[in-house]
This record gives sequence, C-alpha cells and structure tokens, in this order.
Amino acid sequence: MKLVRFGPRGAERPGVWLDDTPAPGQASILDVRAMTFDIADYDAHFFTHYGIERLRALLLEPQPKLVPAAGVRLGPPVARPGKIVCLGKNYAAHAAEFDSAIPQTPIFFSKATTALNGPTDPVVLPRGSGRVDGEAELALVIGRTARRVAAEVALEYVAGYTILNDVTDRDAQRQGQQWFRGKSADTFCPLGPFLVTGDVIGDPHQLRVTQRVNGQTLQDDTTQQMLFKIPFLIEYFSAAITLEPGDIIATGTPAGIGSARQPPVLLRAGDVVEVAIEKLGAQRNPVIAEV
Ligand code: ZN
Repeated sequence: MKLVRFGPRGAERPGVWLDDTPAPGQASILDVRAMTFDIADYDAHFFTHYGIERLRALLLEPQPKLVPAAGVRLGPPVARPGKIVCLGKNYAAHAAEFDSAIPQTPIFFSKATTALNGPTDPVVLPRGSGRVDGEAELALVIGRTARRVAAEVALEYVAGYTILNDVTDRDAQRQGQQWFRGKSADTFCPLGPFLVTGDVIGDPHQLRVTQRVNGQTLQDDTTQQMLFKIPFLIEYFSAAITLEPGDIIATGTPAGIGSARQPPVLLRAGDVVEVAIEKLGAQRNPVIAEV
C-alpha cells in the first residue's frame, strides 16, 4: 500500500494512492478523511491507534471516496514527526569521497523537522547559502514505539519506506563543526512521494537508488551497499533513545554527490534535482533562490 498526503502545503489530507484506478495508466487517491472521522493525519496517533490495517479495511468498503490523482500536490507522506534521524557515511564509497574515514560505528545526526518538503516542491536556496547539493537516501518510518529493540525483530517496528533527499549546505556543514545547521534549512528535506508499506518492499537492502541533476546521473547504487543495515541501526539507536511512531530514519547516501565531483555539480536556481528509488517512486524538485 502507498500512503500519501495530498493538498496544499500545511493543509494536507491523508490518502492512499491507487495505481491503475479507475483505469490502466490512471491513478486516484482514496480520500481517507472523507471516509472516516477519526483519522486526522498520518501522525503518531494514527500509527499508534489505527495504523495500516485500518486503511486496508477502508479500501474494502463498497463506496470508496476517490479523488483523481492528476494535478494533485503531494506533501511529505508523514505529518510532522518527532524527529528525523540521519546516518552519516553509511556507504563506504561515499565515506571515501567525503573524507576517507570509514566509520566503525554508525554516525547519527539530525535534520530539523521544519526542513520537510514535498516531493515536487521547490528546494529554496537561502540568501547567503554556500555550496548546496543533494543526497539520495532510503528512509524508513517508525510504526511502533521502539526502545531497546533487538535487530532480529526490528523490521516489525517499521511502518514503511520512502525517499528522502538530504539536501545539504556543504559550507555550513563544515563551518559549524556540527552538521545540524547545514542540513536543516527550510525545504532541505524533500520526502515522498509515497510511504510504501514493508510488505510491498520485501528486503529494503535490494533497492536501486539514483540522483539526477538536470538529467545528469550523479548517484546510482543499491541499498545493498549500506555499511550498517537497518535492523542493526534500529537496535543500536533504540538502545538508549526511544523511537516514536512517525519518526524518520534516513539511512545515508551512496557515492556520487555533486560537491565531491570534479568539477563539482552544485544546485543553482533553475536546476531540477530528481531522486528515485526502486519500488518507492521518484521525487522531482525544482531549485529556486530565496527572494
Ligand atoms: Zn545524508
């Protein structure tokens, strides 16, 4: 199942994306709020009290309320989460292009939740920003409260998977000693288009990940290459820190980022950055300058 949030920014409604409905090649969105009063949004309350199974029941109702998908804006597929946890240098080839040091334990950092952006919304370069580029990443969304969870059962705590572009101001990242500011500018976290449930994905470590800028491929790798795999990441992180429903974990980016290339490929106003992951769809974000 593909969960989406649709409508204007800040006023998105929860939906379920239906391919080939009402006809092959067409898509529609099940308008969840039009069918039930108790699911306000895809937030911690939803994952805790209703969850994916409730949506499956709605899909079976005789008169589903459908909205044509064409032309509808999609927002991030999760409402504002408690935290966005990110992985630094979780692919060896990317660690090599970044600073050559291969981590022995996972490097966690965070992005501000105010950075969240829709999958086709503009990425806005702040006035005075430095060298900015994107990072294509597989992200997972937590579905159940997770504290001290063993790797063997960790995937049971995952509601589903989505695409996250970890847009980064490299100058702010290096200047600050700490990455939070360089990673967290408003709009620097396109998420979506879909939250795809785990049953559709199967093994999350067999997915092709690509990033293109203006049609030029920068990144093309598979999630098989992750240094630290998702079950271990959840066990390691949740040993001391509670993961709550709706929390997002971005699993790191493969090699090929624009700022590490010769010559560098940096995001400028007028560019289009596209991130795609097998089974999860694609993002296509225009880049604009802050006015
Ligand atoms: Zn990243």
